[in-house]
Amino acid sequence: MGVSLWSRVLDFVSPRLCAVCGSRLSVTEHALCSACCLRLPRTGFCLRPYDNPVAQAFWGQADVERAASFFYFEPHSEVSRMIYSLKYKGRPDIGVALGRLAAGEFMAAGFFDGVDVIVPVPLARKRLRERGYNQSAEVAAGVSSLTGIPVDERSVCRKAFKTSQTKLGRWERLGNVSGLFEVRRQERLLGKHVLLVDDVFTTGATVMACASAVAAVPGTTVSIMTLGFTK
Ligand SMILES: [Zn+2]
Repeated sequence: MGVSLWSRVLDFVSPRLCAVCGSRLSVTEHALCSACCLRLPRTGFCLRPYDNPVAQAFWGQADVERAASFFYFEPHSEVSRMIYSLKYKGRPDIGVALGRLAAGEFMAAGFFDGVDVIVPVPLARKRLRERGYNQSAEVAAGVSSLTGIPVDERSVCRKAFKTSQTKLGRWERLGNVSGLFEVRRQERLLGKHVLLVDDVFTTGATVMACASAVAAVPGTTVSIMTLGFTK
């Protein structure tokens, strides 16, 4: 990526800091410094996209082609602070930078082969209004910027929450989220290989519900990519 004079001037006026360690970023670094990028606890799932903990979570639940997360996510870790900033501190740029970084490594493993379109897991409209952006769409934008695969943010939509998710157990959540997503423009996804992108895979209930909705469109193939994976 070329570095314009303008970005050098901006950097001089207001230096950007690493979202993890707080050190000053160089003009070629985005959101994370190179040292923190290297230190991310990578899962290596993209090297075995048909058989890893994310892929296994879908076995017998939804028909999924490839699935992988980029790094392990642990509460109170450097990674969790970074994701917190992405979701709650108005830092969509972290999503773009991490999406792009993950895409570089996933692409080398052939993870995107045959993928036609990227669909970020949608947020409920109310949540989107509060936050101002969908963090998964930012990750998707980063993936798209490197792979050239287009993003479709309009074909799948999310209905309002029925009850609070956090008060329910894993299986109750699965029941609670089924029917949470709706494919509005089936013709756009017909026969396509769709890559669903989400920020963190925890119980997998949300992305699973979204995958089921997309997989119901005739002829679609669904693959899954998330940044974090909660062990
Ligand atoms: Zn750093």
